[in-house]
Amino acid sequence: MNRRSITIVGASLAGLRAAESLRRQDFDGPITLIGDEPHAPYDRPPLSKQFLAGEWETDRLALTKPEKLDEFDLDFRLGVRATGFDLATRRLGLSDDDDLEVDGLLIATGARCRTLPGTEGIDGVFVLRSLDDSLALRAAFDAGPSRVVVVGAGFIGAEVAATARARGLEVSLVEALPQPLGRVLGDEMGAVCADVHRDQGVDLRLGVGVDAVEAGPDGNVERVRLSDGSVIEAEVVVVGIGVIPNTEWLEGSGLELDNGVVCDATCLAAPGVTAAGDVARWPNARFDEIMRVEHWDNAVEQGGHAARRLLQSDEDAEPFTPVPWFWSDQYDRKIQLAGRIRPDDEIQIVTGSVEERRFAALYGRAGRLVGVLGFNRPRHVMQYKTLIQDGVSFADALAADL
Ligand SMILES: Cc1cc2nc3c(=O)[nH]c(=O)nc-3n(C[C@H](O)[C@H](O)[C@H](O)COP(=O)(O)OP(=O)(O)OC[C@H]3O[C@@H](n4cnc5c(N)ncnc54)[C@H](O)[C@@H]3O)c2cc1C
Repeated sequence: MNRRSITIVGASLAGLRAAESLRRQDFDGPITLIGDEPHAPYDRPPLSKQFLAGEWETDRLALTKPEKLDEFDLDFRLGVRATGFDLATRRLGLSDDDDLEVDGLLIATGARCRTLPGTEGIDGVFVLRSLDDSLALRAAFDAGPSRVVVVGAGFIGAEVAATARARGLEVSLVEALPQPLGRVLGDEMGAVCADVHRDQGVDLRLGVGVDAVEAGPDGNVERVRLSDGSVIEAEVVVVGIGVIPNTEWLEGSGLELDNGVVCDATCLAAPGVTAAGDVARWPNARFDEIMRVEHWDNAVEQGGHAARRLLQSDEDAEPFTPVPWFWSDQYDRKIQLAGRIRPDDEIQIVTGSVEERRFAALYGRAGRLVGVLGFNRPRHVMQYKTLIQDGVSFADALAADL
């Protein structure tokens, strides 16, 4: 498929990896990369870990070295937001008034944090998605607040709690579900994470919601009121209650939007339009499921796949069928999960023990291996991930001597 030019909206992980992959496939036409953040593309995982801990500075966050970026010869439009797109005319609206007519379009606008209603304008309440968010939260941690309350014990919340504790701060972690990470790992394994945090001195409040976040007369946050009637005094509140895909700018574009940009199995959203990363939703035939995946590895892989798709004919196009995979660092534990698991999957520990918090657990459903969770077991996670990819039965996976 001959393309005159390719425009990528979203200059972060999926967008940049897409651009790089186009150049590696010898696409030598113009590539425009449009991103609304003022910074050169940077990596997000350290924002809740090494960068927030104060161990790394911004120079270690760059996704690609500046010399490499020059080599790829990309037309970067940083600090510019895409404001609209019309599929019929292929006009892309931009915040700098310089509209573009696009040929191939790759959408990689990611996601943004959900906020807690009623907290707007209260000083000391933070979310964590961008470098600027992390810089602001890091400065708040530097000031040595008497207590940090983290609302939401998903991966970002749990990592922020771990980093704050490692910095010697008092931390309360509030979660509406019975266990931290319960939505992702199920309650049994979520309980293991809960113990890890308790052991580190985190005040865990599980199965309770937040009724109100209250500020003092100076506008600074003072306390969090919970649904069980308890009150936690706080100088910093971090809200980690999930993300919303950035698709509003595509409303009325002619593309289908439903909790993300809806794509076919090959990541194609419309002729000459693909999507990748946190914003893309597509049917992954390997799991017979329509998914939107918010993991680093997926943004890299799908960025490359969606870029290749723009250069392929419908006949040559291949479905995107990854085994999703992510990691999370909390204290000295590296937690990794590969596959697609559900709360009612069968779980078996295959190596190590929960007591030591060093183990690999397999998840089975309908006789099939569907996931592997590792606590400080990176080799096992990668080996069982290959078995998931190979479609191995649960019984064979349990019998495998890895
Ligand atoms: C703090 C943090 C820690 C994480 N840790 C891990 C981890 O340990 N392991 C893991 O697997 N994953 C982790 N992730 C998830 C991982 O970073 C994301 O999955 C990945 O960044 C997704 O990349 P993306 O390019 O799809 O989207 P994003 O990284 O969200 O990038 C989208 C870009 O598009 C821009 N944009 C949005 N709308 C527009 C518009 N209209 N016009 C122009 N630009 C626009 C955004 O500002 C942003 O720069 C973490 C994420 C965060 C925030």
